[in-house]
Formats: sequence, structure tokens, C-alpha cells
Amino acid sequence: MKLAHRVESLPPYLFTEISKKIAAKRAAGEDVITFAIGDPDLPTPKHILDKLHAAADDPANHRYPESEGLPALRQSIADWYDRRFEVKFDPLTETLPLIGSKEGIAHMALCFIDPGDVALAPDPGYPVYEIGTMFAGGTTYSLKCTRESGWKPDFDAIPADVAAKAKMLWLNYPNNPTGAVADLDFFERAVAFAKKNDIAICHDNPYCDVAYDGYKPVSIFQVPGARDVAVEFNSWSKIYNMTGWRIGMVVGNSTMIDALMRVKSNIDSGIPQAIQEMAMAAVYGPQDVVDEHNAIYQRRRDRIVEGLRSIGLTVDIPRASLYVWAKLPDGVASADFAARLIEDTAVVVTPGRGYGVNGEGYIRLSVTTPDDKVDEGMKRIAAWKGI
Ligand SMILES: *Cc1c(COP(=O)(O)O)cnc(C)c1O
Repeated sequence: MKLAHRVESLPPYLFTEISKKIAAKRAAGEDVITFAIGDPDLPTPKHILDKLHAAADDPANHRYPESEGLPALRQSIADWYDRRFEVKFDPLTETLPLIGSKEGIAHMALCFIDPGDVALAPDPGYPVYEIGTMFAGGTTYSLKCTRESGWKPDFDAIPADVAAKAKMLWLNYPNNPTGAVADLDFFERAVAFAKKNDIAICHDNPYCDVAYDGYKPVSIFQVPGARDVAVEFNSWSKIYNMTGWRIGMVVGNSTMIDALMRVKSNIDSGIPQAIQEMAMAAVYGPQDVVDEHNAIYQRRRDRIVEGLRSIGLTVDIPRASLYVWAKLPDGVASADFAARLIEDTAVVVTPGRGYGVNGEGYIRLSVTTPDDKVDEGMKRIAAWKGI
């Protein structure tokens, strides 16, 4: 048999080599500590789980779900945006629930990209933006982001012919993998650039409530006119420790939302309804859990930053997201560093190169590792002689 080009041309899985090393270490009985994955270690809050348990017993929830989401769920998304950002959306035309935002992000390219079309995406960045474009037959023009630019693209540096051709622009602040944040000035420039060049903006905002030191991330919809050109993907995964339940959303421009709804209605049948009910319990239930989780992450963040600085890495303290992004000494390759670290100490970090060429020379550590493991992992790193 012969696989399609789109499958053959998928980049090799970033973790293949590291996964092998982890498996070998575990087989040898070593205590592997991983900072590799951004996946909350704390359980989903009890009041949210209680709703799931009750909803699972309701036979109405055993049948195919409403594909575009229960009207009450879409209302809850609109209510949440109003409460959090004072931005109003019509639930039926300007919100759409997703089976986790990753699914919607990947499928969004099918709404805009025909073979040969171009999407703009940040480098380093979340790999799904580029993969979705590739699946649709398009190509990605990488927007170079660096520490000097605060990990933000310079719209003026995009060649005029590329800007004229591009159909989509991906943005993500608070950012994965760098932890960088963006203010409304930046989003104003993005909206102006998109309007000038007739480009659809997809802003990915799953960390908008994972923030520290009192910082409050913004929504692109706090910029006047953003709704003419943009959607924002969001998710309860990271905010309410719900990665395992798979529920996210997209809000904003009704033409873009309608296009995604039409694509999706031909692919999936929606989110299991008991999980839709659970998501409403998250929105309307007590919100102190969010601050409690952030306080835990903030302590871990500080411990990780301190540990990495103690071995001479350069680290900017992130104000949001689940990640600490650390610069290696000049000339040290991130994959090589990560491989040697796991070999010598059984501590796992993610090589920055996996997020694009501009991620080379950096590593990413997630704060979703339990406290005692953070302490032990940082002790091992501090004692490591391999740097
Ligand atoms: C975690 C993450 C997502 C996906 O979240 P879902 O669990 O699929 O809702 C999307 N974008 C970025 C940048 C992420 O880090």
C-alpha cells in the first residue's frame, strides 16, 4: 500500500528519541521526572466531576450529541467571555464548541486554505498551526520570533507579496512554548495588518486564565474591529484541569465560525453531552479553583526558574502559560542537551527545536509536574555536571 504524501511528509515525532530513552530508564527502574508535557497534574475540581457523574446517568446524554453544542453550552461560552473580558457574543452565530480546541485549530485550515495557499504562523510555535495548513495542501510562511522581539512577529518585516497572498494569520499569547504575553497594542497592530491585507486572524488563547503575579491576559476582541477579521480559540483544558475531557471553543467572526461549523458537521458529531454539561458547571461554578491552581503553578515556576538559573541558563520569568522557556549556552543544541540530561539524570525537558528553527538553543519545562518531583528534578539539574 502507498500512504498519502500528507502522511509521509509529517515531521518525525519530536519525542521519538527521547521516548526511547525514557522507556529504557523506566525499564531499568529509574525514577524518571518529566517536565515535558503541558497537562495539569491536579484533578478536575470536584463540583465539575459531580456534574459529569449525574449527567452520565441521564439517558438523553447517551445519544448523539447536538453537533454544534447545546444552546445552553453556547450561551455559557458567551457568558464567560462577557464576565472575563466584557466582550459580548451572539451564542448561535459567534460561538462554537470544539472537541478540545486542538481539533478546531487543525480543521480551521480547511476553511481557508486551498492547495497552494499560504498561512502565516509564528516560529517558534504550537506545531498544529503548520500541520493543519499542510493537511489542507497549503504552505506556512514562518514568522520569525526571537527573545529580542518579546517572541512576537514583526508585521512590517513580512514581504508585501507574502502578505498579499496569505489567507490566515496564527497568533498565540500567552504563548506556548515561550511563555511570552502580548498587550492590546500588539493585537491592534495585528488587526490593522489583517484588514490591510484581507487576512483572517486565528488567535489561540488557552492560557488566558493561567497567569501569575496578578497579570491578566487580554483577548483579541478587546480591540475594536477585531470581530471583522478574527476568531479566538479557547479551552477549558488548562484553566479548569480538563485536558482529558476534550472540550474547547472558538468565538468571534460569524463567517469564520459558520465555515468551521460546516466543515465539522461533516466530520464529527460533537462533544459527548455529559461533558457539555460538565463544561457549564465549570463556567457557572466557583471560580476560586483557578486562582488556587495558579498559586501552585507560580510556586513551581519560581522553583524551576531558580534551578535553571543556578546552572547558568538565561530565563525570563513567565507571567502566564504553563511553561518556563530557558536559553541554553551559545552553541548547545536543544535536542542534544535534552538527550544528555535524561541520560545522566532521568529528567525530561522539551527541546525548543521541536517548535521551529527559532526555538533552537532553548528548552521548555512545564509547571504541571507535582511539587515533590519539581524539587527532586531541580536538585538533580543543579547537581548535574553535563552543562
Ligand atoms: C494545550 C494547547 C491547546 C489545546 O488545548 P485543547 O486541550 O485541545 O483544548 C491549543 N493551543 C495551545 C497553544 C496549547 O498549548
